[in-house]
Amino acid sequence: MTQTQIKKLGSPSSSFQHNMDAPLPIIRKRRLRQNAGFRSMVRENTLSASDFILPMFVEENVSERAAISSLPGVYRESEQSLGNIVKDAAATGLKSIMLFGVSHNKDESGADSLHSKGLFARMIDRAKQASPETLVVADLCFCEYTDHGHCGPLTKHGDVDNDATLENLMRQAVVAAEAGADMVAPSGMMDGMVAAIREGLDQSGFEHVPIMSYATKFASCFYGPFRDAAGCGLGKGNRKTYQMDPANAREAIEEAMQDEMEGADILMVKPGMPYLDILANIRQETNLPLAIYQVSGEYAMIKSAAEKGLLDETDAMMESLLAFKRAGADIILSYFSLDAIKQIKDGYLENV
Ligand SMILES: [Zn+2]
Repeated sequence: MTQTQIKKLGSPSSSFQHNMDAPLPIIRKRRLRQNAGFRSMVRENTLSASDFILPMFVEENVSERAAISSLPGVYRESEQSLGNIVKDAAATGLKSIMLFGVSHNKDESGADSLHSKGLFARMIDRAKQASPETLVVADLCFCEYTDHGHCGPLTKHGDVDNDATLENLMRQAVVAAEAGADMVAPSGMMDGMVAAIREGLDQSGFEHVPIMSYATKFASCFYGPFRDAAGCGLGKGNRKTYQMDPANAREAIEEAMQDEMEGADILMVKPGMPYLDILANIRQETNLPLAIYQVSGEYAMIKSAAEKGLLDETDAMMESLLAFKRAGADIILSYFSLDAIKQIKDGYLENV
């Protein structure tokens, strides 16, 4: 408000009765909030079906899909059920899925995921065959396939061997691409993983396959329900020697910039809701597309609060997803993907 405007409002000759200390507001932000029409007209961020990637679990050697009790509405698909589920999801508007294997063939290094006939390759192939237009993203890591549950082979001291894991990741990326993966997404937080995978893919004729790096993945307790779902709890130890300290923000920018330099096409932040500042910070530093992963614990919290009648599930879901867009995300990985797409189609955003 200009000085003249304030004076005019506050002057005794004004037709309004009020004093100098409390001028009437000329700027009223409420004008554009008065109804759903104005609100949707000036809304700065929105959601669309193409924003979403649905994470899915696939278990081998089971005859039927099974509900995951810690994640209501999420299933471990069987290899038989996967195809139809992916096809149905595509029919509702979902454009992309990310696959996680629930392995029954685990060993010290996760070797099953390096075989063209292993679960890792089979589930990619199965999804792609069922719905060729769906973008199938392969999560690249070994924790679902190692008997100790860590993200790569261990050194004799029991820590993950970074450089041995890089060699395996190069091979795993090629197995994924050969099976038909449209994009690979390394999630193990190994130093140099993006460069190694880029080299592995390029040497094998897959220079067109993009890398979405889990560039800043924090050592978070919010992954709890996922560990149940994917059956990859740790035998011993923790992931704090490779995943990031939740207290660190500057280091997250370093991690993200490192992956950009190594050739990442998309940078991810994981988890989502407790790390919006990290996403917003990285948005300031790069022009690459950014993804955020609303993890199992976040999903379970909203589900559980809604079940108890503490929150409206749809409102909480949509608010959390819009917050990701506001903080700078282009892409959202969420177990809510199908529910969100349904709400978007039903006009939720035009009516709030
Ligand atoms: Zn892992």
